[in-house]
Amino acid sequence: MNADTTGPHVVVAGGGIAGLAAAHRLALAGHRVTLLEAGPRLGGKLLAGEIAGAPVDLGAESLLARRPEAVALARAVGLGDRLQAPVTTTASVWSRGALVPMPKGHVMGVPGDAHAVDGLLSEEGVRRIGRDGELPPADIGEDIAIGAYVADRMGREVVDRLVEPLLGGVYAGDAYRISMRAAVPALFEAARRHPTLTAAVRAVQQAGATVPADAAGAATGLGGSVFLGIEGGVGTLPGAVADAIRAAGGTILTDAPVTALRRTGPTGWQVVSGDRVLTADAVVLATPAGPAAALLAPHAPAASAELGAVAYASMALVTLAFRRSDLPALPGSGFLVPPVDGHTIKASTFSSQKWGWVADGAPDLFVLRTSVGRHGEEEQVHREDADLVAASLKDLAAATGLAARPVATTVTRWTGGLPQYPVGHLDRVARVREAVAALPGLRVAGAAYDGVGIPACIASAHRAADEIIATSKRTDPGAGHSR
Ligand SMILES: Cc1cc2nc3c(=O)[nH]c(=O)nc-3n(C[C@H](O)[C@H](O)[C@H](O)COP(=O)(O)OP(=O)(O)OC[C@H]3O[C@@H](n4cnc5c(N)ncnc54)[C@H](O)[C@@H]3O)c2cc1C
Repeated sequence: MNADTTGPHVVVAGGGIAGLAAAHRLALAGHRVTLLEAGPRLGGKLLAGEIAGAPVDLGAESLLARRPEAVALARAVGLGDRLQAPVTTTASVWSRGALVPMPKGHVMGVPGDAHAVDGLLSEEGVRRIGRDGELPPADIGEDIAIGAYVADRMGREVVDRLVEPLLGGVYAGDAYRISMRAAVPALFEAARRHPTLTAAVRAVQQAGATVPADAAGAATGLGGSVFLGIEGGVGTLPGAVADAIRAAGGTILTDAPVTALRRTGPTGWQVVSGDRVLTADAVVLATPAGPAAALLAPHAPAASAELGAVAYASMALVTLAFRRSDLPALPGSGFLVPPVDGHTIKASTFSSQKWGWVADGAPDLFVLRTSVGRHGEEEQVHREDADLVAASLKDLAAATGLAARPVATTVTRWTGGLPQYPVGHLDRVARVREAVAALPGLRVAGAAYDGVGIPACIASAHRAADEIIATSKRTDPGAGHSR
């Protein structure tokens, strides 16, 4: 397929999954697309790698299949046959020195029934949940920190032992600061309508139960699994999307940081990357918030300041390969760690037990990973590799009895890995979008906006691309034809 060199030219800054998804959408709609990635490789937080010769994900590893975007993109770029449901999703919580099965019947750790958390919470903690029914209805206003709200209604133990570790897994953040409206929107809306939090949780659970067999899960034909992986790694998705962009005539450049944006007349842009100056009819900024803020500063100072204030959590993933025969039986897919217990690791995933493709790739090995670091713990992430490995092994031994030495280890640092969504985040994003939309042909996308998960990043990219496609159709009805 040849590029239509007369169509509108769109430059996408950032080659993470958001930038790639935007470029893909635009290229398929017939736009000339140039994607500029600052680093030497595409994918951002998606990274396929290997340990002891076995393939593994060294970054993001699973796709939420309840939302359609990620699964649909994987299918569109030819990875449909490689989508894999986890072998097991039975996780534990390492709490007060024991691995306790993760309770069922909760929404992001908030139980719909106090007995759902028997065994994990103390008797006093379980009793405290019942107070929710006695308290007067709370006014949660336009947003509230999920930790503070849940602690008020059901006690701190629910937050410290369930909500915090679960949210920590997604945001590497602090439940007492994270926006309930942004992080758990369905529960936030339900909590506004119901007098108690318990009633709100039950309403969300019931609404979930009425979605036919989990809409997207059923459509995947993969047993209605809530999460899916990709054989070879979720980290293979960026390369497949890039191939599809090139096949549709798009151009992708790496080692090409966008360093400045300039207006050319009322609608056009010049995109500067080192010595290169590209002329564009539209631009998608799909970088993290910091670089987007710098590029927007001359054109939308207020939006730039808002984006510049978005904080990020850094984390490290410690991937360990053991001889399978050296290990004790480990339960399920891994475990979460409540920070209140003061351990170094915040979670561990038993990759060889969770993903068939990891087990098949190295039948004699057992691969697992731990994660270290959350918002405000920058120093943890920058400890020496050997230190992080030793701390991981110490915690693994205490949690599971694992005493073996690994045959290989890899530490992957994700500095600025996850944007934080504090109370008011969605209003901030609305203000940024409004200011950016006043600039013709400019859009933003990525993890800093509507959700940090891969499907949410893709959705924000599609939104940006669709708005550009719609505008170019209005200004030039012959442009943006479908290929
Ligand atoms: C360790 C880890 C594990 C995760 N696990 C999961 C998971 O299992 N499932 C899930 O759904 N989500 C997961 N997430 C979250 C998810 O992976 C990310 O939120 C998402 O991939 C972010 O995509 P993005 O395109 O918005 O940003 P990024 O991946 O950050 O990509 C942005 C790109 O922009 C580039 N860039 C920066 N500045 C410039 C510039 N000036 N010019 C050009 N390019 C620039 C960067 O180099 C980068 O490649 C995880 C995140 C981390 C850190």
